[in-house]
Amino acid sequence: MSRKFFSVAIDGPSGAGKSTIARHVARALGFLYVDTGALYRALALLARRRGVAVTDEAGVAALFPEADIRLTYEGGVLGVFLGGEDVTEAIRAHEISQAASDISGLPAVRAFLLDAQRAFARAQDVIMDGRDIGTVVLPGADIKIFLTAAPEERARRRFLELEARGTPVDYKTVLADIIRRDENDARRALAPLQPADGAIWVDTTGNAWEESMQIILDLVKGKLAPCSTDSHMGL
Ligand code: C5P
Repeated sequence: MSRKFFSVAIDGPSGAGKSTIARHVARALGFLYVDTGALYRALALLARRRGVAVTDEAGVAALFPEADIRLTYEGGVLGVFLGGEDVTEAIRAHEISQAASDISGLPAVRAFLLDAQRAFARAQDVIMDGRDIGTVVLPGADIKIFLTAAPEERARRRFLELEARGTPVDYKTVLADIIRRDENDARRALAPLQPADGAIWVDTTGNAWEESMQIILDLVKGKLAPCSTDSHMGL
């Protein structure tokens, strides 16, 4: 008999630490980590490369047949592939962040990526992060977390990340972009960023990522234990 797979939904604004935390929790529990933002980013990258405006719904929809986006997850490292090309780094560029936010407001795009996201959770235990995982993609997730932090702190983390990547952007620009993306994501008509019903709210302001990771890991383990099946023994 097939068992139901366990699913963890983590939503929240950019820079709250979702992907770092989700990746480590997934690794600790042997779950698949699905970075749904990477899917929107890869599509935005494709549109830019093809010279299609990320607000042009028909133009973007015409790209779907060639949008062969794959996520690999090996040894805790996420790889993102577009048409076989490794775009793991390219999709993190500063200009792709805003383009992904814009493209994600298109209903056709959200519909296109919805099935792909749900398919991951049908096949294995997952921890999925994004903006609408608990509200739209996996409303029946076993545990839903809304991860957030003050905008200034999120901007500071993103600033340091871009600097470490060798593509520095000044702090004020990063903060302004974070605030703009927050507004974009929270105000769009379809699947806006908002805490899901029953979501546990975790504010990571002032925390080292390891502390936030431990909080989430403990929450998930707490939920996992009572409904544990054989394959979860020993956690
Ligand atoms: O999480 P990340 O910053 O990589 O996501 C890039 C953009 O993709 C976000 O700003 C958001 O607009 C969009 N997104 C979304 N729904 C998701 C994941 C990401 O709309 N589930």
